[in-house]
Amino acid sequence: MARYTAAVCRLCRRSGEKLMLKGSKCITKCVLDKRSKPPGQQLGRGRRPRLSERGLQLREKQKARYSYGLLERQFRRLFATAERQSGITGENLLVLLERRLDNVVYRLGFADSRAQARQLVRHGHILLNGRQTDIPSCLIKEGDTISWKPTSTESEYYKQLVKDITSKQVLNWLSLDKENLVGQVLSLPTPDDTEAKFDGKSIVEFYSR
Ligand code: SF4
Repeated sequence: MARYTAAVCRLCRRSGEKLMLKGSKCITKCVLDKRSKPPGQQLGRGRRPRLSERGLQLREKQKARYSYGLLERQFRRLFATAERQSGITGENLLVLLERRLDNVVYRLGFADSRAQARQLVRHGHILLNGRQTDIPSCLIKEGDTISWKPTSTESEYYKQLVKDITSKQVLNWLSLDKENLVGQVLSLPTPDDTEAKFDGKSIVEFYSR
């Protein structure tokens, strides 16, 4: 599957806000503190142009897409699933994004960013209900367990993670055994659990045209 490989800080600059795509690096050193203008605009020349309603909707959609690291095609497919479900499409979409396996690995604190979490899944380090899965887009269900492949627990990354994770907190829909690094999905996330930096309603309006 193709993926975005250019500098991710450009995506934050384009969105006009910190999307925290590089994990803890975003806290210590953020390019947006120095260069807040969108890429392609020279420093000091004019202001950020005023966006039309359509432009604002597009920006919300892009923020969601960038935050979860999805290509347009993947995002559009997830949106179609959200539309087919009962309830409010914007909220369904938020929950579907949050239920992705790579996001859950990130939320459990196994990775510093969603991009890193996706790599852990892709490289086969993660077990879902005891079975190896290398599909980051896989949607978790209530009661699922997420753990590490036994051979991966011998890696330096894992050993350091065991030390670092003691200070981390997980969201209330997840639980984590910090000694064995086994996570469990206590319940499905709600839209409020997603800490979304974007507006689901605007995304629905964007695709309804
Ligand atoms: Fe880059 Fe992170 Fe700052 Fe975004 S929040 S611009 S990814 S350092």
